[in-house]
Amino acid sequence: MKVTHNLKNIHEKIIEACQKSGRNPEEVKLVAVTKYVSSERALEALDAGVVHLGENRDEGLLAKWEVLKNRPTWHFIGSLQTRKVKAIIDIVEYIHSLDRMTLADEIQKRASNPIKCFIQVNVSGEESKHGITPSEALDFVRALSGHDKIIVDGLMTMAPLTEDEERIRHCFKELKSLREEIQQLHIENSPCKELSMGMSNDFHIAIEEGATFVRIGTALVG
Ligand SMILES: *Cc1c(COP(=O)(O)O)cnc(C)c1O
Repeated sequence: MKVTHNLKNIHEKIIEACQKSGRNPEEVKLVAVTKYVSSERALEALDAGVVHLGENRDEGLLAKWEVLKNRPTWHFIGSLQTRKVKAIIDIVEYIHSLDRMTLADEIQKRASNPIKCFIQVNVSGEESKHGITPSEALDFVRALSGHDKIIVDGLMTMAPLTEDEERIRHCFKELKSLREEIQQLHIENSPCKELSMGMSNDFHIAIEEGATFVRIGTALVG
């Protein structure tokens, strides 16, 4: 399928989910996840009007960056090894996978400018998933208050792989309520306005529950 065709379908679903939940579609930003596809396909997405691109590995990001340079706004969405920070830090505007202090320290050390970060939270508790536990989140944010190269722009989660919509919805609700708790700490470098949640199979639910960034690969470019 052409990206323009897929994009139109996704936009319709975004609008529908916003109507259902009384939200403004402009609050929802689409990150096209291009990790499975070529630079040509990523370029097709940009030509179709996509602004944000997400990659989950440093090799993939750097290969696409060679071709597309700063035309898109780059998001790093995958688990990030500390030793890979240096290679990607000057390219990306957002990191969706901040999940430990050693990584925060490395970002602090390497970044020339403050980087917008999402704290990845393992709400579902599945062992296979990365992220801090919800109960660790507030202390983690407090501990980051001295890291002036880190902006805690929001929270990110991945819903459990299940057909059970209510379990998925519950997971998104938990992330949102954690965001409110963090906002109430009023920590200068943690505005925590955003929620990065929702992928190809569950983005409509995520939007109904407040997502401001959805990360979509398969349904858009796959
Ligand atoms: C691959 C990936 C996505 C996109 O997944 P799709 O199901 O293809 O939409 C979103 N977020 C993360 C962190 C990913 O690794």
